Amino acid sequence: MIIPVFLPMQGCSSSCVFCDQHAITATPAPSPIDVETLVKSRNPDGQPAQLAFYGGSFTALPRMRLKEYVDTARRLRSEGLITGFRCSTRPDAIHHEVLDILQQGGCEAIELGVQSTDIRVQQQSGRIPTDMDQLHRVVAALHQRSWQSVIQLMPGLPGEDQASFLRTITDTIALSPHGVRLYPTLVLRGTTLHTMYESGHYTPLDLEQAIQMCSRAVSRFRERGIHIVRMGLQDGDSLRETIVAGPWHPAFGELVESRLCLQALLPYRESAVALRAHPRLRSKIAGHKRQNLTALQWQALPFEMDEQLGIKEVSLLLDSGQWISLPLNW
Ligand code: SF4
Repeated sequence: MIIPVFLPMQGCSSSCVFCDQHAITATPAPSPIDVETLVKSRNPDGQPAQLAFYGGSFTALPRMRLKEYVDTARRLRSEGLITGFRCSTRPDAIHHEVLDILQQGGCEAIELGVQSTDIRVQQQSGRIPTDMDQLHRVVAALHQRSWQSVIQLMPGLPGEDQASFLRTITDTIALSPHGVRLYPTLVLRGTTLHTMYESGHYTPLDLEQAIQMCSRAVSRFRERGIHIVRMGLQDGDSLRETIVAGPWHPAFGELVESRLCLQALLPYRESAVALRAHPRLRSKIAGHKRQNLTALQWQALPFEMDEQLGIKEVSLLLDSGQWISLPLNW
């Protein structure tokens, strides 16, 4: 279990053109005492749980404030209410001294808002530029402490093209993180990106482009054993009210998984005469509004649900009379 605590834009000195964490989280930052109360109410029985500080640049908080949150985590850990904590931050805000502080509270994982490894894209997005040498040093420092690393990427940032995004995927694989989050860039009301969009200086991805880019990325990350932690922002009223434009869908991750499923099945479009799969795969195989079945021209194909099958495979009966098991890469 993860107990998330949102500290919207706390520790953020930079002006990332796309960001409005207040809209995404819709809650003010809780104090360290509030955090303690929250964890005790969410986990009264001391189930295995990890506290998560999200929504800002945790390692760039004013030092006193950082120590207060870390000390809270340390106390909760000593009482057996959490196993440790994780936090999100900017890669430029990682230093050995601050990592030593985090270690005292039982840090277990750090999520790095890398967004793109292309310096030009970082600059156009208002980020503090972080080159690959620095990223390698940061990720290595986390792994040396046996902490998990998660890289957050944002396809569709200003100045990014196909080649730039593919380079970011390759660079991210080279960092060997434990996981990746993929958040296609959205235009949120009141951000600098909103101004750029209105003045014609920024064009967001459409949903189809975002699905294509993310399915390609997911495929490559999974081939290397990199876990996909999440795709697309968590749905919520506050977020919906703030989105002006961009590839938004409340079940974005499902759309990408469904596209991957289609890609796996396409080679058998002509030869498959029946299909069996675990019931949990039904919607992924059929696709949003049955788009996959339409693309495969399988609307009338016998489609049997079988709970005995795994959730990483599909069984296909081919016109040769042979059943084959098709592994799905997730
Ligand atoms: S993207 Fe990250 S670093 Fe930039 S303002 Fe938002 S929370 Fe802060």
